[in-house]
Amino acid sequence: MLAALSLLGWPRGAPALSILIYHRVLPVPDPLRPGEIDAALFEAQVSFLAKHFTLMTVTEAALALRERRLPQRAACITFDDGYADNLTVAHPILARHGAKATVFIATGYLNGGRMFSDTVIEFVRLAAGPQLDLGSVGMGVHSIATDEERLKAITALQVQLKYLAPAERDEQVKRMAAAHPVGALPQDLMLNDAQLRQLADAGHEIGGHTVDHTVLTTLTPEGARAQVQQGREWIERLIGRPVRSFAYPNGRPVRDYDAGHAAMLRDLGFEAAVSTSAGVALPGADVFQLPRYTPWGRSMTMFAARMMRNARIGGPAAVV
Ligand SMILES: [Zn+2]
Repeated sequence: MLAALSLLGWPRGAPALSILIYHRVLPVPDPLRPGEIDAALFEAQVSFLAKHFTLMTVTEAALALRERRLPQRAACITFDDGYADNLTVAHPILARHGAKATVFIATGYLNGGRMFSDTVIEFVRLAAGPQLDLGSVGMGVHSIATDEERLKAITALQVQLKYLAPAERDEQVKRMAAAHPVGALPQDLMLNDAQLRQLADAGHEIGGHTVDHTVLTTLTPEGARAQVQQGREWIERLIGRPVRSFAYPNGRPVRDYDAGHAAMLRDLGFEAAVSTSAGVALPGADVFQLPRYTPWGRSMTMFAARMMRNARIGGPAAVV
């Protein structure tokens, strides 16, 4: 193993940067959001990271990578989209451990907006059971007698909506809600202006994530540039600081963004951009396509083992 890694030019011990992806931190576990971390587990993870890693913001880490002065064990905590619990739940935990995160904001959803995936979850949560009949709008009939069934219905509906064009998707979500009225859906899932300012004032890095969370490859180059710049300018006006990093919506290389978008961000004066391609970043990495990974699972032993392994060895193959 050691010999093989040496042949590749990355002997065991080369510094590698782990960038972790989070979206929400729930106050308590939610059976309808099994993929989201809760406060207790997040606290355990942050406590481990603060003790064993140098936690950096994405821009700090990109500069360190570029200047080949990355600390031996380095990590970034990142949040995508701009959820209110990044401030109300995650921030106090981060502050207790002296950790700073990077929060990527899709500005169009701030102040009472809701991403379609959340609309589906909250709609199915509130829908009266045992059956959700959306046959009239072409979205099927779903059994929702138990949490497991509700979760299945959520997944099925999200899949049906995911690949529609944004405007068409908004219309279909409206039709879905009208077909089975459930009352008011929450309007406080995302950060508001004051909350975003608080996050920035607390020292967390605020990065761009477009206005509407539109996948860049679905836009013309001019359209992509407008989404990036409008989101960035909106944040900069609000927080009074430059926005230096960016997270590609969806984030898969080639399918969701390409090298042209990375070059555009460089031209626009950004310092770093992150994808959702799983891996760790090594010195000399393209700082406009930094890989990230999601810390899955509830086991702290597995989390710790994986973080340490990735920090020591480096390279996408190390990520499990
Ligand atoms: Zn996102």
